[in-house]
Amino acid sequence: MLHENLGINEKGRLTFAGADAVLLAEKYGTPLMLLDEERIRRNIRRYKEALLECFGEGSFPLFASKALCFKGIYRLAKEEGIGMDAVSVGELYTAKAAGFDLSKAYFHGNNKTDADIAYAVENGVGAFVVDNADELLALEKYLASADKKQDILLRITPGIDPHTHKAIVTGSVDSKFGSAIETGQAEEITRLALSLPHIVLKGFHCHVGSQIFDIEPFTEAADIMLRFIAYVAAETGYTAEVLNLGGGLGVKYVEGQPELDYAAVIRDMAAVIKLRASAIGCALPHILLEPGRSLVADAGVTLYTVGSVKTIKGYKSYVSVDGGMPDNPRYALYEAPYTVLLASKAAEKADFICSVVGRCCESGDILQENVDIPKPVRGDILAVLCTGAYNYAMASNYNRIPRPAVVWVKEGADRLAIRRESFEDMTRLEV
Ligand SMILES: *Cc1c(COP(=O)(O)O)cnc(C)c1O
Repeated sequence: MLHENLGINEKGRLTFAGADAVLLAEKYGTPLMLLDEERIRRNIRRYKEALLECFGEGSFPLFASKALCFKGIYRLAKEEGIGMDAVSVGELYTAKAAGFDLSKAYFHGNNKTDADIAYAVENGVGAFVVDNADELLALEKYLASADKKQDILLRITPGIDPHTHKAIVTGSVDSKFGSAIETGQAEEITRLALSLPHIVLKGFHCHVGSQIFDIEPFTEAADIMLRFIAYVAAETGYTAEVLNLGGGLGVKYVEGQPELDYAAVIRDMAAVIKLRASAIGCALPHILLEPGRSLVADAGVTLYTVGSVKTIKGYKSYVSVDGGMPDNPRYALYEAPYTVLLASKAAEKADFICSVVGRCCESGDILQENVDIPKPVRGDILAVLCTGAYNYAMASNYNRIPRPAVVWVKEGADRLAIRRESFEDMTRLEV
């Protein structure tokens, strides 16, 4: 099985976090997303403990909200004592509504509006991650009028190509995010931040990309950022306290991809970063990481009911399910790989090669191609694995399809996390 929270029971059905997936599909209906609570806690603890062990007090993970945003995840983040990053007021609002202390929130985004700035300052956001000079000046203006000070990090583009899909590469110089070191704009915005009376510069942030399995893009980025920190200290006398290296560690979606031990990866990273820091002569700042995918992806599974099974003679076979791109647009967007299993016949021989498709009026509504599963019939339950990240968070109502329910599973016991969207929910804003 792809991950250790998956199994097959005596009925030949898929189990997830100790529960029979088919029984949960019957109980809650499909499409249904299951979330393994213990898996998320375990993933968080690996990051948290390794960062503390390697870099000491003040170094901790921030959950990247964009991967999966709903109140329950912030309650869990709060219990586990980690921070969070947000890219919108909607995410900040959701965290606050769940009782999450926003002093542990880092507010990202390349275009914060004046209303966003006011909301975040007034609700006590721990730090802004300031993207650009326009934002910095707008923030200073607001702070001056409110007679407040605000901690910030500056988002810097180190100029790294982490060799992943181009839509999820963000650390290169030509990017909509941040200020580049190479062009001198990183230094300029640092000097500007230091000159503004209501801005408290705590340090720097960078994010090199996503679904990365090697430590080199991170250690390279850290090396460039530490050189920048040393340069800024020599030129201005300012010493950064915090270096946030962003998110991006990879997750095993399919066989053949590695399953990273995040604690071991952080230890390896730390060893290189410490050597580089001492070579550069730069005191080590607190290190923050912003994992999204690697905290929640492998804690999610989506269940669907099989509808039609169609073989086009001389071509291929299609298995249609009762969800699709509205709940998981990632194959349509990036041809993202996923492992597909037939949950109701998980022990049977997989010998039916097919495309698993959704029910939208759209040829691109494909969940996965070249899938090998036992031949399904109408009514079987199909599972797409590793859907905890960037699925529910990206879900839409395209074709007026309601969003699925989400259920927590913990050691075999289930509990509703998000109820299934209704047709009334979908029309409630319409006047
Ligand atoms: C997307 C993103 C993350 C999280 O990335 P993952 O690949 O999900 O770990 C963290 N920080 C920033 C700034 C991001 O844009």
